[in-house]
Amino acid sequence: MTTASRSQLVPLHWDGETRELALGIDFGGTKVEAALVDGTGRVLEGSRFRAPTGGGAGSDELAAAVGTVIRAVLDSVPREARLIGAGVGSAGPIDVANGLVSPLNVPAWRGYPLLALVEDITGLPTVLRMDGLCITLAEHWVGAGRDVSNVMGMIVSTGVGGGLILGGVTVPGPTGNAGHIGHIEVGGFDDVCACGGTGCVEAIASGPNTVAWANRNGWPGTTGEQLSADHRAGVPVVVAAVERAGRALGHAIASAASLVDLDLVAIGGGFSQVSPVLFDHIRVAIAERAAFDFVSRTRVVPAGLGGDAPLIGAAALIHRRSLVR
Ligand SMILES: [Zn+2]
Repeated sequence: MTTASRSQLVPLHWDGETRELALGIDFGGTKVEAALVDGTGRVLEGSRFRAPTGGGAGSDELAAAVGTVIRAVLDSVPREARLIGAGVGSAGPIDVANGLVSPLNVPAWRGYPLLALVEDITGLPTVLRMDGLCITLAEHWVGAGRDVSNVMGMIVSTGVGGGLILGGVTVPGPTGNAGHIGHIEVGGFDDVCACGGTGCVEAIASGPNTVAWANRNGWPGTTGEQLSADHRAGVPVVVAAVERAGRALGHAIASAASLVDLDLVAIGGGFSQVSPVLFDHIRVAIAERAAFDFVSRTRVVPAGLGGDAPLIGAAALIHRRSLVR
């Protein structure tokens, strides 16, 4: 039996002001997490639970983990509150029309009916979108992209993902997979990607792939934290590795901005914090790459929301329904 662990060991806080809550669920390759989110984009203290999904778990175990986490959250709903729906963000690819998920890093689920699973457990109106889209919705709602009409949210972490809001509404694409910026190919690189492609920005600039490049060039470390420390210390191969990642990210962002015309790109995820200098490399690469003012005017900033963004964004699928396509 899967057990859910409470992320924050604090008493349930309820100010009695906002009565409508949404259940936000984030499903990924290492964990499933869920929480209650109010109409102002706040995660309710004491309502957040998680369970692991990695380690080669089978399909039934994964479903059990989702069920355990959701039931723990439902047990924490304050009596005064009304649950108005469940939003689910999942690692992609997904099949939004049929409510199915096939997360690249979760091989036990190919075409798995996650939407129906959540509907069955909760009895709530449920909306499923890709996790990158949810993060973008969160940043647009209460993060770095507040009141900005054309935003790309990005996560640079174990992988590279993203989502789009254009003209103030989300852009899921017909299958729900728009925003897979991690698999845009970047010119001048031949790194092999897990998707089967070559030169994908994820293959170059994810945390693990940046560490791997540094290793191939003689750096002995193994973690992003070590990379960060050695970058601060000015270790040349690490400085080069971070510059390389930033250049690839900048070129991918310039390509995306050329295509869809963006105001802002908000980048979160663990590896985006390897060094503030990463953002300088990204901005320089965009400026070098782009001869068009409409591309070089795109602002690139750190995400405003940390680990809460996936849950806030999943809940935004309910609270901000009018923006969700
Ligand atoms: Zn790829």
